[in-house]
Amino acid sequence: MRCTIVGAGVSGLSSGIRLLESGHDVQILSDKFSPETVSDVAAAIWYPFLVRPADKADTWGLVTYSVLEELCEESPEAGVKMRDGQEYLRGVVDLPPWKDEIAAFRILEEGEIPDGYVFGWEFRAPVIEMPLYMPWLKARFEEQAGVFKQGFVKNLQDLEGDVIVNCVGLGARELCDDMEIKPARGQVIFIDQDPGIGHFDQQPETLTYTIPRSDVTVLGGTAQVDDWDLEIRDEDNDLILSKVEAIWPELDRSKIVGGAVGLRPSRTEVRLEEENIGGVRVIHNYGHGGAGVTLSWGCADEVVSIAESSNES
Ligand SMILES: Cc1cc2nc3c(=O)[nH]c(=O)nc-3n(C[C@H](O)[C@H](O)[C@H](O)COP(=O)(O)OP(=O)(O)OC[C@H]3O[C@@H](n4cnc5c(N)ncnc54)[C@H](O)[C@@H]3O)c2cc1C
Repeated sequence: MRCTIVGAGVSGLSSGIRLLESGHDVQILSDKFSPETVSDVAAAIWYPFLVRPADKADTWGLVTYSVLEELCEESPEAGVKMRDGQEYLRGVVDLPPWKDEIAAFRILEEGEIPDGYVFGWEFRAPVIEMPLYMPWLKARFEEQAGVFKQGFVKNLQDLEGDVIVNCVGLGARELCDDMEIKPARGQVIFIDQDPGIGHFDQQPETLTYTIPRSDVTVLGGTAQVDDWDLEIRDEDNDLILSKVEAIWPELDRSKIVGGAVGLRPSRTEVRLEEENIGGVRVIHNYGHGGAGVTLSWGCADEVVSIAESSNES
């Protein structure tokens, strides 16, 4: 099958790799490439966050967890590391449905929970260092004879190929006239200090995290819906630092080395389905909100399965 993917973020690259591995011809057409995509700004830890539908997200997430765990073992150059982290909550909630499927999950003891919180858990999850991971994905796509082309797409039905895979993220607002997709603005700070383990409060209203990478730690965050501002804002930095200090009091502000902003492609739910547009087969794979990396391989597998099943019928 000849496949044209639109978009070169983590969704487009992962879908492209899986389609190539299944023996198809694949080109990726995109207006921007790494390091200029939203995916490059992702913090990024495996965690189904700010994304629906929850049941499918959990399934796609667990597929991705296994792939990333394997990459950590077998391809260290991909920039994936398994790390321990603690999630803190302000109320007692149901345990996540994936708790038994991931490594080292346990409920925190009272003495491990910071002031202001009442509950929490520890877990081991992949941290994906996007400055390494995105180039690695690109290289893996090209090694398998995938082709990149630069260009901005105005109409999906004008593209060549037996199937078109739409991985444009927030670009779907314009390309598909999809008003359900909105930016959830995320600002982060990079600091040259290691918290040892990750500390998280991943409720959208109070979002706070420290994600250690091999060079810096990423501090967050914000999730400002319908906010298109790509500039770093001082007031958001102040907010992030005060939130992080509440869960990581050792934070040393003199060690800050940078920051970034990205617009998460937030949608009522991920759109992963086939649509026939004027006789052209289009598979949409966008709207992954705050979990595009977390869901990437699970969604890519489903893209292949939709492409191949419809082709047989
Ligand atoms: C601060 C921050 C922290 C995050 N942390 C995490 C995390 O810890 N874990 C996690 O899983 N996720 C995280 N995310 C979310 C994650 O970054 C996104 O869900 C993911 O990057 C979406 O990937 P994508 O490939 O769908 O979209 P994108 O990366 O936005 O890629 C879209 C691609 O489509 C192209 N495109 C768009 N429109 C067109 C067009 N008309 N024609 C041609 N090309 C087009 C773009 O140029 C781009 O290449 C975070 C995001 C932010 C901002």
